[in-house]
Amino acid sequence: MSEATLPPPDPGEKVPVDAADAVLAAAATAVDGAAEPEAFTPLDVPKRLLLVHAHPDDETIGTGATMAKYAAEHALVTLVTCTLGEEGEVLVPELEHLAADKEDGLGQHRIGELAAAMEALGVRDHRFLGGPGRWRDSGMMDTPANERPECFWRADLDEATRELVAVVREVRPQVVVTYDEKGGYGHPDHIQAHRVAVAAFDKAGDPSYAPGLGEPWQPAKLYYTTFPKSVLQAGIDALKAAGESDFFGGVDSAEDLPFGVPDDQVTTEVDAGDYLDAKTAAMRAHKTQIAVDGPFFALSNNIGQKAFGTEYYMLVKGSAGPRDGANGREPDLFAGVD
Ligand SMILES: [Zn+2]
Repeated sequence: MSEATLPPPDPGEKVPVDAADAVLAAAATAVDGAAEPEAFTPLDVPKRLLLVHAHPDDETIGTGATMAKYAAEHALVTLVTCTLGEEGEVLVPELEHLAADKEDGLGQHRIGELAAAMEALGVRDHRFLGGPGRWRDSGMMDTPANERPECFWRADLDEATRELVAVVREVRPQVVVTYDEKGGYGHPDHIQAHRVAVAAFDKAGDPSYAPGLGEPWQPAKLYYTTFPKSVLQAGIDALKAAGESDFFGGVDSAEDLPFGVPDDQVTTEVDAGDYLDAKTAAMRAHKTQIAVDGPFFALSNNIGQKAFGTEYYMLVKGSAGPRDGANGREPDLFAGVD
């Protein structure tokens, strides 16, 4: 949802400032019920962006500045997160009891962290694929967690695709963002998120696919998140110069990292440096997951805006717009979209 969900002001009615929340709640109810003839529809918002991520925190680390920028520009930004991240490591000592091998309460806790992060980014439409807890975090590859029948890695691909197709047909994004086929760095839930997002991109516009899930809608562009190897190398060099050596096992060369692509494969570079504060606040909201003294904040402190305010993408379906941004890349995910 966005500000566009607000009903027009009634000139005959004085609304006290502290009633703003009630107005928002009423607007949200009207949208959810979709019963009123003047109800908001997504097509009222010119730019619509859907991001498909695996766990709470992935959206902020990978695409947080982009999300904040487009939300601030009044795009409809919809986040779909595929799991609650139940298997994550807990980096806050007083919350260690939540871990999967203890109370197993981390997933519920991370719902709150994600909500706080979305508030920081200004993103109001965030959902879990199939509802919160429908699929469980699969843990790292070849661990017992990905043997569990309810984990996302073992999800029925068609069921998961249908859930996402329903969202695509509802919010009608022109642009969809997810991971590449390696899931960025190989986590099973990221690979599965990629599969589901690509399948939904391909099927949402097909009238013969799941006709009960709403009017067909074909998004115009599909992007994968990525990093140019040169940017990763600059990060490694800066961390080494600052005396940090534990970044991804202390590699010397970006070629040894399991993610990133040659610079010429990066099609799109979104400069959202003005939203670095929002991204940093969102990272802090994921406090069980992102240590403030860990490599991400070390990177942020040492390279600052260049490391975190600019986010990189590869266009894999649809037509590129003008490559008139930095480094001969598209500066805007919506470039060339009517
Ligand atoms: Zn993840």
